[in-house]
Amino acid sequence: MAASYRKADHGGGIGGLAAAVALSRFPDIEVSVFEAAKEFTEVGAGIGVWPRVWKLLAYLGLDDDLASISATKPTQDEVDTFIFRKADQPEGLDFYKLRSRGTLLRYHRPDVLQVLIDNLPAHCKTYFNRRLQTYTQDRAKGTVQLVFSDGSTETCNVLIGSDGIKSSVRRTMLTNKSEEAASKGKLEDAERFMQLIEPTWTGIVAYRALIPTQRLQDYKDAHPEMNIRIPQTNSTPIMYMGQHINVVVYPISSGKLINIGAFHAKPELAGTNFPGPWVETIPNDELLAAHDGWEPELQAILRCAYTPSRWAVHMAQPLESWVDGNVALLGDSAHAMSPQQASGAGQAIEDAYLLATLLGHRLTRIENINQVLNIYSDVRVPVATEVQHRSLVNGSYFGLQLEGLDSTREHDRLHEIGDAVVENWNWAWATTLDPSISEAVKRLEASQRPRAHL
Ligand SMILES: Cc1cc2nc3c(=O)[nH]c(=O)nc-3n(C[C@H](O)[C@H](O)[C@H](O)COP(=O)(O)OP(=O)(O)OC[C@H]3O[C@@H](n4cnc5c(N)ncnc54)[C@H](O)[C@@H]3O)c2cc1C
Repeated sequence: MAASYRKADHGGGIGGLAAAVALSRFPDIEVSVFEAAKEFTEVGAGIGVWPRVWKLLAYLGLDDDLASISATKPTQDEVDTFIFRKADQPEGLDFYKLRSRGTLLRYHRPDVLQVLIDNLPAHCKTYFNRRLQTYTQDRAKGTVQLVFSDGSTETCNVLIGSDGIKSSVRRTMLTNKSEEAASKGKLEDAERFMQLIEPTWTGIVAYRALIPTQRLQDYKDAHPEMNIRIPQTNSTPIMYMGQHINVVVYPISSGKLINIGAFHAKPELAGTNFPGPWVETIPNDELLAAHDGWEPELQAILRCAYTPSRWAVHMAQPLESWVDGNVALLGDSAHAMSPQQASGAGQAIEDAYLLATLLGHRLTRIENINQVLNIYSDVRVPVATEVQHRSLVNGSYFGLQLEGLDSTREHDRLHEIGDAVVENWNWAWATTLDPSISEAVKRLEASQRPRAHL
């Protein structure tokens, strides 16, 4: 059986709470979640969940609760998932139907967070208004000391840094690695670690908004001549596409709300500093002006949006390892990515499931936690890093960019973009995490096998 040890988890977003739920299944692990905010919150926007992630949520026993808050029911059948439509012109043109094996389930984020909160067992401790500033480690004792911004401290055996894209755990981890490299005279490595701390701007801004479906219905009734289609829970979501821009529209909250995500890319600005705040509420006029000349249906939908916001989409720079002693990164702190594969939170849930499987394994003890975390990192880093890359590639396809194709003129070849998207994205519905889990457990078991005496 696994030795009993105290684990601390911090940052209570989707990644941290998924980790807490997954770890709490092991009665000998004491889980504490330290959240900087005064309560758990999620941005009021939509989130998509692919079959690969759904399977893990089902393993965690969350499937019934999640199924009850979505009008779209999970299926393993082949289904229509998106209609791709060229829409940066007076009359839109459907050019591709993306089909996937299993549904992209669509939720209102706060509902998903609530399901995770509802499934935290009473023995999992949660603390609010606890902003982690830094940590120190006593490697001989296998303890991590957490230092919070109010000066308070806590001690644990494992720290999981699930504190999002501006992670203080990542900052401390890379600063430590830099100092260690410098102390060995490896000055280039020391410099490189420091440069990996900050996220980089992808050149993409995302406009996010919700629309009460009734509001769009009222607009449609007032403008019958426009033939606006109201997104329904049983209709296939439409992705409206134009040069370097795509707008995803789908219903959530059992059809009461419509989620809008409009992504605008300036690839030449990727890697530069975003000028201004990363998140800002904007007037609806800015949203409309950004889609000037697009087909009337999309403009009508955008007109009904309230309190839209603009997000500068940043990504975490890929790391070779997410581990420092008994500390590991998870979710956006490790691999924040552009949202164009609807997979950032999904990857956080994959991290959480695999890490919990290893920490809860009968062979895991306080003495080998670092080894266990390294197995987690070795197995997960290549997967999440590839998804980060694929997300950017999807973004480019969604913006109608495909090498050798002039999408402004060659409309009869637009289906090639759809085929490229399927090839780049089908891992999300055609593969599972199971092989990674088996591989990680096998590595743990091999690492603990007594060596044969020669
Ligand atoms: C426009 C957009 C659309 C997206 N769509 C999808 C999608 O459809 N599907 C999908 O899978 N992903 C999607 N994503 C990505 C997804 O939102 C993120 O990857 C995911 O929310 C990351 O979860 P996390 O728990 O790692 O981090 P976060 O959600 O950022 O949570 C971090 C938590 O840690 C807390 N915290 C921060 N600092 C500290 C500290 N110092 N001490 C203590 N607590 C701290 C924060 O308050 C927060 O509660 C999208 C992202 C964007 C921007």
